[in-house]
Amino acid sequence: MRKSLYGMKLEEMMEELGFEKKFQARIVRDNLIKGVTDFSKMTSLSKKDRERLTRDAMTTTVIEKQESESAVKLALRLSDGLIVECVRLSDGKDRYTACLSSQVGCAMGCAFCKTGTMGLKRNLEEGEIIEQFVHLEKLGEKISHIVFMGMGEPLNNFSSLMEAIQTFHDREQFDISYRKITISTSGYVPGIHKLCELELPLKLAVSLVTADDEKRSRLMRINRTYPLGELKKALISFQRRENKRITLEYCMLSSYNTGEEDAEKLRKFLSGLDALVNLIPWNPIEGMDFKTPTDEEIRAFTNELRKRNINYSIRRSKGRDISGACGQLASNIE
Ligand code: SF4
Repeated sequence: MRKSLYGMKLEEMMEELGFEKKFQARIVRDNLIKGVTDFSKMTSLSKKDRERLTRDAMTTTVIEKQESESAVKLALRLSDGLIVECVRLSDGKDRYTACLSSQVGCAMGCAFCKTGTMGLKRNLEEGEIIEQFVHLEKLGEKISHIVFMGMGEPLNNFSSLMEAIQTFHDREQFDISYRKITISTSGYVPGIHKLCELELPLKLAVSLVTADDEKRSRLMRINRTYPLGELKKALISFQRRENKRITLEYCMLSSYNTGEEDAEKLRKFLSGLDALVNLIPWNPIEGMDFKTPTDEEIRAFTNELRKRNINYSIRRSKGRDISGACGQLASNIE
């Protein structure tokens, strides 16, 4: 498998590309950050080097692009032939967010998620995570925010995830503030503790789905190992360190987690936490029996939340029509 030049230390890049001087690697790195991946176009390199380096600097290739009004989804072929997806989301003004994958497939098997049906194929390497961002920026707009909500459980690929985040944050490279980077987890408690130890002002989102242990265990295998009590303890310690609001993603499944009792359980879970509940009406996935709640059902549930002073927002999924919305990433391309 070919290693990506993205995220490589300059010394490593010198060895990989047969350079004698560090400045040559620096020229390549500066070009890569700007999205120039064809060596023949790196005009600050000597003619000899440009002629010698004939391959494209990227290890991934875009094989499919789908667009909707607010989202563009790319399918990328990795150097071993596997496929991964990433999405550029727009807020309709001037803010663009890259939704990146951390794994090909996912081992967590959440019952409402298409990626979960694939199983885990493998972890992505640091460079493969960064290349998704570069492909999305090559679409033509500057991307200011990153969310790790694509394929995979990011905290299960901790070292590559953190290496990629360091590169995104590095002032000499992508210069994206930690505060603009969100890691979304299904509730992998050891990963949340590890994240706490790093003491970085990254944002955390947790896919809660329901605050009822029994229902959650039925939908999300992770809850059988790390039930809500343990998850809450981890979130409290994260919040103590980072003093930051956490987002709890609440995928709304019609007649499953939208009742009065569900709102009450949610209230109890939230006590002692500073969290925003992000309601996401489930995005239909072929072959799954869940239903998207009706507008009336959503209204009734939000009334219950209001009665309990729960902070919430509703995410009308961007990219649903191109299967680029939350829980819908799983490639159909062979
Ligand atoms: S919701 Fe997230 S953690 Fe669960 S299966 Fe899907 S990608 Fe994996």
